[in-house]
Amino acid sequence: MYQSNKMNYHVMPDGTEKQINPFTGREVWAIPGRKNKPVYNCFESNPKEIEVQNPEGYCNFCVANYKNTPPEKARLIKTQDGYKILNRLDVKKVFSEEAEFRRISNLFEIVTIDYWARNYNYKLVDVNKKWKERYISSDEGLNHVLGIINLKLKLSGINSEQIEAKSAEEKINMANAFFCGGHELVVAKKHMNSGAKYDIDLCSSGELTQEEHFQYLKFTIEAMRDIYAQNRYVRYVSIFQNWLRDAGASFDHLHKQLVALDAWGTLVERELDLVKNDLNIYNDMAANFACYNNLVIAENDYAMAFVDIGHVHPTLVIYSKNEHLRPNEHTDEELRGLSDLVHACHAAMGNAISCNEEWYYTPWDSIIPMPWHILIKWRINTPAGFEGGTKIYINPMSLTELRDIMVPRLYELRDKKIIDGLKIAEECPVRPNSLRYNRLKGPVPCGNPYHDIYAT
Ligand SMILES: [Zn+2]
Repeated sequence: MYQSNKMNYHVMPDGTEKQINPFTGREVWAIPGRKNKPVYNCFESNPKEIEVQNPEGYCNFCVANYKNTPPEKARLIKTQDGYKILNRLDVKKVFSEEAEFRRISNLFEIVTIDYWARNYNYKLVDVNKKWKERYISSDEGLNHVLGIINLKLKLSGINSEQIEAKSAEEKINMANAFFCGGHELVVAKKHMNSGAKYDIDLCSSGELTQEEHFQYLKFTIEAMRDIYAQNRYVRYVSIFQNWLRDAGASFDHLHKQLVALDAWGTLVERELDLVKNDLNIYNDMAANFACYNNLVIAENDYAMAFVDIGHVHPTLVIYSKNEHLRPNEHTDEELRGLSDLVHACHAAMGNAISCNEEWYYTPWDSIIPMPWHILIKWRINTPAGFEGGTKIYINPMSLTELRDIMVPRLYELRDKKIIDGLKIAEECPVRPNSLRYNRLKGPVPCGNPYHDIYAT
């Protein structure tokens, strides 16, 4: 059972802040004096000048290196009539123009295609089977696929003789993950910002425009919907973004990841258990708590952003205020509202702070509602022996310190017209029970697109 607000948040006379996360039970302290460590910049102190590349070829995700990534499940392009998604691209299309965002398989899956095949007897659905056949029917497509498999084997530490000894047929079988695997990447177009001169001028989520960020989220949600629709054994799609090395990113090139799972994961299960006992817990213990303690940093009609309690790392959270639960159930208007706040948080923190962005939402087969919310965790501290031995985690920043860093930056960005469509700090309405996830009339809908596709 969760504890009361008062127990979860206590400031001692010397300024030590003690927090307990109401959902995870984690105990966190912010101690004065631990705060003076430099925390705002994860880069080396001396930025290095770069040799500007056009087209960009700084890493395997860059425009010049499309050949180094698997076939594209989808891409988002900009046309005269707006943004458009192209699905299951032929090889010629991949190399003939540049994409705004690309959806590709992760070369090294966490949950592999073999996992689904061996444990569930999962087979490629027809549309992907045909796409694979079409792709490798041309020499260019076949060579691309074999090239990626060779690259994957090489990166796995297999020597060139062993790679050459494998037959083309064996390699083509290994390529199933590219066409229907459940661990995917959504990769942004740019590696560096326009006009970049130094290695620190990276294009982060906050460097996108509000419109680009909205399109990025919408395209990611479409990938999530498609994963559900292609594999009926999937119970949850974990969605996250690792920004920079300290957050676990292999490349400093903006991308999100989606991992299909046959379970909800302990954290989601635990939170949904809490909702069973208190349907209003996300208001009581998260949003209302933030309102009453002046922790809300931004709000609009569709979402609310605040500093979140009880995390190892300084953490911002953006909650959807909508009755719609899952990302794919949100209307464009609702999604844009939420996207604007997520974008504003990234823009205000800048591109130099390593962070994890984590999405949480109602699994499609849950009848208990969870509001869609996105955590942004600043990876600026590393738990060590003290934390290991005590399970008391030292966060280098108090809740109010994090708020006071974010709020002036948000005002500044709005003055410069970089962000828009949001109220900031004291302007926010901060109404109690703003999250409407528990106002549904009738049962929580199923929400699985697999069932929509096969419905008669
Ligand atoms: Zn790149």
